[in-house]
Amino acid sequence: QTLFLSLSLQAKMSRPVQARRLEGIDKNIWVEFVKLAATYSKVNLGQGFPDFPAPDFLTEAFTRALSGGNHMLHQYTRAFGHPPLVKVLAQFFEKLLGRDLDPMTNVMVTVGAYQALFCCFQALVDEGDEVIIIEPFFDCYEPMVKMAGGTPVFVPLRPNPPKDGKLMSSADWQLDPAELASKFSERTKAIVLNSPNNPLGKVFSRGELGLIAELCVKHDVLCISDEVYEWLVYDGKQHIRIASLQGMWDRTVIVGSAGKTFSATGWKVGWVVGPNRLLQHLRTVHQNSVYHCATIAQEAVAQGFQRELMLYGKPESYFVQLPKELQRKRDWLVQSLDGVGMKPIVPEGTYFLVADISQFKSDVPDVPSSDEPYDYRFAKWMVKNKGLAAIPLSTFYSEAHKNNYTNFIRFCFAKEDATLKAANDILQKWKQEKTSS
Ligand code: PMP
Repeated sequence: QTLFLSLSLQAKMSRPVQARRLEGIDKNIWVEFVKLAATYSKVNLGQGFPDFPAPDFLTEAFTRALSGGNHMLHQYTRAFGHPPLVKVLAQFFEKLLGRDLDPMTNVMVTVGAYQALFCCFQALVDEGDEVIIIEPFFDCYEPMVKMAGGTPVFVPLRPNPPKDGKLMSSADWQLDPAELASKFSERTKAIVLNSPNNPLGKVFSRGELGLIAELCVKHDVLCISDEVYEWLVYDGKQHIRIASLQGMWDRTVIVGSAGKTFSATGWKVGWVVGPNRLLQHLRTVHQNSVYHCATIAQEAVAQGFQRELMLYGKPESYFVQLPKELQRKRDWLVQSLDGVGMKPIVPEGTYFLVADISQFKSDVPDVPSSDEPYDYRFAKWMVKNKGLAAIPLSTFYSEAHKNNYTNFIRFCFAKEDATLKAANDILQKWKQEKTSS
């Protein structure tokens, strides 16, 4: 009897437990690099989050919501978004897009932009559909497309180095129009656009967006437009929303994040804005997965947006001040890196800056038996030996194209001046060691 029982238990245990849709998507580099940074780094310019505080008006709004006497803010709120937040987001985006929006059907609140993206892929991508992803890309797009049963189709931004010896800019990385057009087919369901782009900091121009829009309309393709860095644009450049281009509103879902907008990534408040014909299906995913998002965080973000609506375009606006401050930090890190020969690609937007490390090959010991790309080996060596954490750029490429982009690493400059100074000190010391050896 006992033998029979244990045999039957064993037999049951041997069946596969993993759902097939998880095959091949179990690796996540953040797990490895966040751990390495926590163990070795003195200065962490790896993961994308600010180490400076969120603005007072936002944290005060949170405190008021928490203990201001409205005990209902501790309970569930409307599933698809706390009414004050969807209302103010609708008002804000009406201004930005120049069209009327219904807060109940054209806006949905999510657990960060990450869940917004998950809802998009689950709701819009079917088994066998192709989804075009522009490389380099925020790494979660690929596994999310695959989990929905879709096939990612990659198209790279191609670097065109300036001839005049100037530093490269993220604007020098461009799509080849013919190559992009060749990726669209009958099977293409959607394209993922991320402007301003993580990791390069590229802000797509009106011309580039026009080309993408034209192809979307021609092939009846949807656009998932990840605009989480929409306020972080530098040098007077303008962030253009593809949904405002002709023929695009009806086929675009805009993804946003309060984490990036208000420097509070831990709050995990995100949203989608788009036509009801698309958002109704995102609501189906939302109601069958997360359903409600944290009420107090939504209330505080709503108040943050109400303030910004009042101050829109004025010098006191956080959306005016934050990019100014970050541009200064960007310029500082550009100088530091340039000074030590780690050629920076000057970003037009975002928290990030990509630097060329090809001149540092002799610093990093060769590991003949390893098939790890140079940028991975470099980033690991740098954090262990110099205490400075950054992320290898090839992480942001598909398996097939990774090996073409192994001479770069990504730094995050959304950091306190003291953190950037500590990074500069490490780089300067490194340079001295190099010149004296
Ligand atoms: N999209 C991009 C391009 C990002 O860089 C990030 C965060 N690193 C997200 C989405 C996710 O944002 P959230 O933290 O709001 O989930």
